Order: sequence, then C-alpha cells, then structure tokens
Amino acid sequence: MKATPEKIIREEIRALSAYHIPDSCGLVKLDAMENPYGLPEAMRGEIARLAESAALNRYPDPSAGLLKARLRQAMDIPAQADVLLGNGSDEIIQILALAVARPGAVIMGVEPSFVMFRMIAAFAGVRFVGVPLGEDFALDPGAMAEAIRLHQPALIFLAYPNNPTGNLFDRAEVSRIIETAPGLVVVDEAYHAFAGQSFMPMLGRYANLLVMRTLSKLGLAGLRLGLVAGGREWLRELDKLRLPYNVNVLTQVLAEAVLAQGDELGRQAEAIKVERSRLLDELRRTPKVKVFVSDANFILFRTPKADRVFQGLKERRVLIKNLNGTHPQLGDCLRVTVGTPGENDIFLAALRKSIHA
Ligand SMILES: *Cc1c(COP(=O)(O)O)cnc(C)c1O
Repeated sequence: MKATPEKIIREEIRALSAYHIPDSCGLVKLDAMENPYGLPEAMRGEIARLAESAALNRYPDPSAGLLKARLRQAMDIPAQADVLLGNGSDEIIQILALAVARPGAVIMGVEPSFVMFRMIAAFAGVRFVGVPLGEDFALDPGAMAEAIRLHQPALIFLAYPNNPTGNLFDRAEVSRIIETAPGLVVVDEAYHAFAGQSFMPMLGRYANLLVMRTLSKLGLAGLRLGLVAGGREWLRELDKLRLPYNVNVLTQVLAEAVLAQGDELGRQAEAIKVERSRLLDELRRTPKVKVFVSDANFILFRTPKADRVFQGLKERRVLIKNLNGTHPQLGDCLRVTVGTPGENDIFLAALRKSIHA
C-alpha cells in the first residue's frame, strides 16, 4: 500500500488551511502590526559590531540568563515570578498547548481573537472552545462563566488588548475569569507598549495566572522573542517542552543590547500612540467608516463593501488586513496597522479614494 497524506497525516491537520502571509513587495506595509521605525544609526552600528563578534559556532546559552535579567528589568516582571523565553510568543502558545494536551482537555479563548490560539490547539490535538465576544467586542461575562462551568478548560487565552479588535477587556471581568477558571489563564500582552495596562503586577495575587509578552510589536519582529512570566511550579513543567536552544545566539545578544541602550523602543511606541490618535480622528471623520476603539498599534474599522475597498487600497499600493469573512462579527471589517505619519497619510488618501471609487 502506497503512503499518502490521507493515510498518514492527522485529519485535523489536513483540515487546516496554512496561515496565509500575503506578498507585500513594493507596498506600504500596514498589515502585520510591525513598528515602522528602524533603529537609530548608532544602535545599528552597535548591532553590526555585536553580530561580528557573536560566537555563531557555539550553541546559544540555554538559559539566556543575561537577556532574561534585562527583560525582567524592562518589563517590570515581579521578582518572585519565573520567566520562560520563546522563539516568538507563538512558540510559547505551542508549548502551553502541548503541555495541557491530555485526552479530553479543552483550551478556551474568546472570538474573534488571535487566530493562532485556535490553530495551535489543533496542532497539539486539543479541542478549542471559542466564546463569542459581546457588543463592541467586549467580554460577555455570562457566556464566559457558563462556558467555563461547562467545559472546565485546562487553559484560557485572553489577548489584552485583543487582536484583531484592538480593545482592552474590562479588568474586573478578566480578574473574575482568572478567579473562576479551573486551570491556567494566560493573559497575552503582545500590545502592552501601546496600552499602559497590564496584569503583570497580578502574578503575585493569582497562582493560575501567566502573563505573555513579545518584542515583536514593540519593534523587533524579525528577531523572534517572546516570553511568559508566572509561578515557578508552572514554568518548571513548561520548560521541559522547550527545545533546548530555542532562542538563537543573535537574538539573545541583539535583544539584550537594544534593551540595554535605554528606552528607544518605548519612545517609538509613544510616537505610534500619537499617530494612533490622529488616525482614529481622521477615520472618525471619514464618511461611511465605523471605527472601533484601539489600545493597540492597529485600528479596526468597518466600511461597506470592504472586499472592494481592500482591493482598491492594494491597487493604490497600500496593504492592510481584510477580516471580512473571517468571523461573523467581523463582516466588512478591515484592520490597519499604525505606520509613520507619511504612511498613514498615504493610507488615508487611498482609503478615501477606494471608498468613493
Ligand atoms: C502578534 C501576536 C502574537 C505573536 O507574537 P510573536 O511574538 O511575534 O510570535 C501573539 N499574540 C497576539 C495577540 C498577537 O497579536
């Protein structure tokens, strides 16, 4: 008998469609929540010197001690919490899903939210339950309480602020979820730099809380570095699933150096927040556009015939994210990442032309 994917590859994997990353060549790229600013000249010189002398013939430091100490300081991680690093926070989501993947286990999230929660649960063979968000993408406390009671999830993911909606959930409602959950609750703070709200200080209060961060949205998406902070008894177990050298030599050395040189990325985040509020104002004044609040570095908005508007933007060399058709609550919704002032002006002009075309 000939081996075929149908016989060999798990059904739930064959049923997935691969995470699609569109070609952005030659376009103003406002689709992936990247920081549009490069690093300053002096810092790039320092990076070149560090790369030159990095021991690429050696395996990386498996504990990444220096980098962890720097991250603790930069992210105000409580001293009693432990830290585990990942090759991006996506890898940490995968470690978490693998760790809880016993038969019958449930991973829970809200929807619409970050699609990798559901996808990675499928990779690990764990059932994912997505609880619909309420009006204006707020948490629906009744639905959450009922779903938790019914499904007893081993793990709950909450993105705070949420992607792709951009809003922060009500703090008290998130706390209630942590208090009533029978398992772990992971608060994913990928957009923390733009939100000014965090559950990091709550690690001492809740033993079943883990807080996840990443350097990607802050400005180092290409380096791939994420982390999870939380109780030692949890991270000790998760660490067994981490591949020994998951954070490479260059990422360790360069992330440490960038964080050591003051808060350049923090200043860039502040500039992005200023542009976010200008972009929000401009979008609110654009006819036929409904804008949702944002505490992140992107803005969700709804406009009639969103597919056509998305194509119109692309023809005008602007790439954003089309969410129409990805979830019932995201009908005619588009998501734009906040760029530089110049990029945002190009986007706004192209949007207005595309809507009126
Ligand atoms: C972008 C994003 C991530 C992934 O970040 P990486 O560290 O680049 O893997 C995780 N969670 C949310 C909610 C995101 O939007």
